[in-house]
Amino acid sequence: MTAALTPVGDPLTAPFWEAARRGRLVIQRCGDCGALRWPPLAGCPECRSREATWDEVDPQGTIWSFVVYHRGFAAELKDQIPYTVVMVQLDAGPYLVGRLIEDGRKPVIGDRVTVGFAEIDGVPSVRWRTTRSTDPEKSKDGENSNGKA
Ligand SMILES: [Zn+2]
Repeated sequence: MTAALTPVGDPLTAPFWEAARRGRLVIQRCGDCGALRWPPLAGCPECRSREATWDEVDPQGTIWSFVVYHRGFAAELKDQIPYTVVMVQLDAGPYLVGRLIEDGRKPVIGDRVTVGFAEIDGVPSVRWRTTRSTDPEKSKDGENSNGKA
């Protein structure tokens, strides 16, 4: 992985990347009100507490939105186009963004996914894998919405 695509060393997000190296998904949780939050923040947006822990959460979620890149976001990705980036709502609540592992079928909003981590040149990266497809008959009009309309 080139420098342009390497996550920046940041004490606020370091616990996430350390867990990712071990194949575990952790999310920041407020030490006072218990709210999960992503992305990590120094303070809780719910109660303003600065206390926080990192809790392992269920790595399952649902595709809330996605985009298929036909131009590489960075020059280093040029040879990988087209590739898909998904926004996933975890069953635990927070939304995460990451690459979808291509499996030869078009993603559909509402598809069930699970997180995985790829390590490229020693750097962990979030990768989502489809675990169950949405019934196409039920998602005909859901392609450009969040599926909750
Ligand atoms: Zn809180």
